[in-house]
Amino acid sequence: MTEGKFATSVSCIDGRIQIPLSEWIKKNYSVDYVDTITEPGVDKKIAENSDLESIKTKVGISINAHKSELIIVSGHYNCAANQVSDEEHIRLIKKGVEVISSWNLGVKIIGVWVDGSWNVNSA
Ligand SMILES: [Zn+2]
Repeated sequence: MTEGKFATSVSCIDGRIQIPLSEWIKKNYSVDYVDTITEPGVDKKIAENSDLESIKTKVGISINAHKSELIIVSGHYNCAANQVSDEEHIRLIKKGVEVISSWNLGVKIIGVWVDGSWNVNSA
């Protein structure tokens, strides 16, 4: 039996984005499952680069137990926990990719933006 391929999504808690994100990741990166780590306004939290131990531990479990080779950091339109412009969200997502890259996990890290139509775009 095959165990399937996993990717790791680090996203906001918002229920509107989980299915679009999961479907986009599966389609674009040929994975079977998407492990999902959520925090309100996660793009802001990661860009601030403080108090990230919990997220780091969870990402580590996904990589070690499920052999995930891809982390997707996202931000989204109309975020209750991070009420900034779309442009600022995208800046924070890019910063978040840099922060997670600095953890030297040996996996690919990308940033994506979920827009007002709930479409996923590379950030
Ligand atoms: Zn949000």
